[in-house]
Amino acid sequence: YQPKVHAGYQSLVGAEALIRWHTREREVIPPDRFIGVAERYPVIRPLTWWVIKSAVARLARWPEELSVAVNIPPNLLLDDEIISVVQDALDIYGVAAQRLSLEVTERIMVDNQETMMNQLARLRDIGTRISLDDFGTGFCSLACFRDLPVDEIKIDKSFVSRMLESDKDHAIVKAVIDLAHNFSMKVVAEGVASMEIADRLADLRCDYLQGYAFNRPLPADEFAARYQI
Ligand code: C2E
Ligand code: CA
Ligand code: CA
Repeated sequence: YQPKVHAGYQSLVGAEALIRWHTREREVIPPDRFIGVAERYPVIRPLTWWVIKSAVARLARWPEELSVAVNIPPNLLLDDEIISVVQDALDIYGVAAQRLSLEVTERIMVDNQETMMNQLARLRDIGTRISLDDFGTGFCSLACFRDLPVDEIKIDKSFVSRMLESDKDHAIVKAVIDLAHNFSMKVVAEGVASMEIADRLADLRCDYLQGYAFNRPLPADEFAARYQI
């Protein structure tokens, strides 16, 4: 779980669940090495349902003001079972739907735009929040952006990490924050690696920050201990 903090107060607002594979040999394998493979096989489905259920179970033990975000691969967003998996997890653990965010990437908009919009709207009807991950790196046109039923934009870390050295990246970050706010969306900056970047993002009125400047992703128990929750 990687902490997400309020940009102005730097107080904890929640976490993003980031999966790790612990092998029998006690090796820890990062997601970039197995999610792509899992996506080519049916394993991605049970794996994603497990991520949703375990993150909601964990969230039930945290204070009510905290939220959790989970990453959802594009093809599973279109899977009808996702609605019942999300709804069941929230019901079983007694967690308010607003505390769960589903992170999806712009890849979802490549085909089936209309079906995808409907599915996002159904998930929002349950009350869960939708977050557009890695924003700025994909295929989302302004026309698609205009119609997207999302609550939050995550500015990709490639822009954030360079924003103090590169005027162009700085301009992109600023423009994305303003664009999102004009659509009443919240903005998260990911990959915030230093306090200088955090301060600049707060000046630009970014809402939330995530990055090594605050913490790396931590095992759930360590996360709870670190934030005394
Ligand atoms: P992502 O969703 O864009 O997650 C952000 C990645 O940036 C995480 O890598 C995080 O550890 C890393 N990060 C956070 N702060 C910083 C920073 O300050 N500097 C730098 N350089 N990196 C930072 P991680 O955990 O290795 O995850 C990589 C990707 O794997 C994720 O990218 C996401 O696309 C995917 N992933 C992770 N967990 C899951 C999961 O449960 N399900 C699915 N489907 N995909 C997942
Ligand atoms: Ca993510
Ligand atoms: Ca991301």
